[in-house]
Amino acid sequence: MRSETIPAKSGRAWRVAAGRSLRVVDVDGGQTGDLFAVAADDPADGQSNGRTFDYGGTLRLSTGSVLYSRRSRPLLRIAEDEVGTHDFLYAPCSQQMYEIEYAATGPRPNCFDNLVGALAAFGVPASTVTTAFNVFMNVGIAPDGGLTVLAPASAVAGRGTTFVAERDLFVAVTSCPASNCNGGRAQRLVVELL
Ligand SMILES: [Zn+2]
Repeated sequence: MRSETIPAKSGRAWRVAAGRSLRVVDVDGGQTGDLFAVAADDPADGQSNGRTFDYGGTLRLSTGSVLYSRRSRPLLRIAEDEVGTHDFLYAPCSQQMYEIEYAATGPRPNCFDNLVGALAAFGVPASTVTTAFNVFMNVGIAPDGGLTVLAPASAVAGRGTTFVAERDLFVAVTSCPASNCNGGRAQRLVVELL
């Protein structure tokens, strides 16, 4: 087992062979991250929330759920989930998002650039990176469709979610810098490669 720390506001990526597992751990409690998987045999075939909803039929993805690629191939299966609350609707935070939502005037660390930068080392183009699987992100969905970003449900330190690779993959994980979905803080995450 290899344990890798994702420092606050940064991202890392790995090649994960078919059948191997990757566990994302909220070591401090209350931190969200973005996970993006790409098929190793096709750098354009990244994960797709729409295809995942097509085949899973639910927004509530947890143990047993499969994340599909834009070409409808299984990429990751959630094998164990100690948190049970994630989001697959929101796009990764980006420089433009910080300018629009937070009135940022200078460069901000952001998950989109961190995902793109980490995956570039494996030859994955920026155009592949779309909606990340937002681990531990807690989004309330009202009956009228209204969305509310809530504090993460993973407030108990040390809980995590384990994903199994359904094929050879490149997988990037960030520790999200956005304050609204992390209870006002930005902390590290740990990824265990099993
Ligand atoms: Zn983010």
